[in-house]
Amino acid sequence: MAKSIAKQAETKTAATSKTVFNSDVEKSVPASQPSVQEPEKIEISIEKKLIALFSLQQIDSQIDRIRIIRGELPLEVEDLEDEIAGLETRVDNHIQEVDSIEKQMHDRQISIKDCQTLIKRYEEQQNNVRNNREYDALTKEIEFQTLEIQLAEKRIREFNAQITTRKEEIDEAQRILSERRNDLEVKRNELADIVTETELEEKALMRKSEEQQHFIEERLLTAYKRIRKNARNGLAVVTVERDACGGCFNSIPPQRQLDIRLQKKIIVCEYCGRILVDKELADSISI
Ligand SMILES: [Zn+2]
Repeated sequence: MAKSIAKQAETKTAATSKTVFNSDVEKSVPASQPSVQEPEKIEISIEKKLIALFSLQQIDSQIDRIRIIRGELPLEVEDLEDEIAGLETRVDNHIQEVDSIEKQMHDRQISIKDCQTLIKRYEEQQNNVRNNREYDALTKEIEFQTLEIQLAEKRIREFNAQITTRKEEIDEAQRILSERRNDLEVKRNELADIVTETELEEKALMRKSEEQQHFIEERLLTAYKRIRKNARNGLAVVTVERDACGGCFNSIPPQRQLDIRLQKKIIVCEYCGRILVDKELADSISI
């Protein structure tokens, strides 16, 4: 990188010493060649400009990637927080259900006692009946109350089963809950670390980006920023990949590809407007 910046420094002086281009970003391929005394100088200059632009793009893309990663992490934490809130609600609901079932169970136990009291009273009355009809009527009442008790006992057994199931669900939810709380703790710490870490990296890259921008003339830099802002993935400078624009993948005619390779002027994709760089040149740049 340092080497590349040093290289750019030379270029900057070369490029700014004399303006020899009608337009740095031009869509038309056949250039209306400006009157130039030293064409070699132009070639070097354009190549250096492209190198500077491509280098800037690499740095800016790294910044973009960091921001994307950091953007996703808080979402993971948020998801966990939501899941925990959901589990807490589920546990609360189960606890309330258990309470309500226990209340119903208690009611049945009371009604069983009431039935038993009645049965006892009927049995006592049976000792003092005047005729069989009265005795049979009381027997029927006793049978009815006995059935009521059996029914209540059946309901109590069902309630007990429901409570057991609910309590198992509560245990399970609480087990998951404690796991998720641990996960959240870990993720929060991770997030804090990564934020600190990436902020440092991002700041360093932003400094690098600014340094790199000094090697690019104002007009070109403005164009770069404008294209980058409008382009998806923030790519303003792309290479030619398999005879196509590396940004929009539209094919580039052979003549245009040749012009890009010759580096006599800065050429943009006629479809997406991105600045096109020869793959070989791009591969020779290390950031
Ligand atoms: Zn394109």
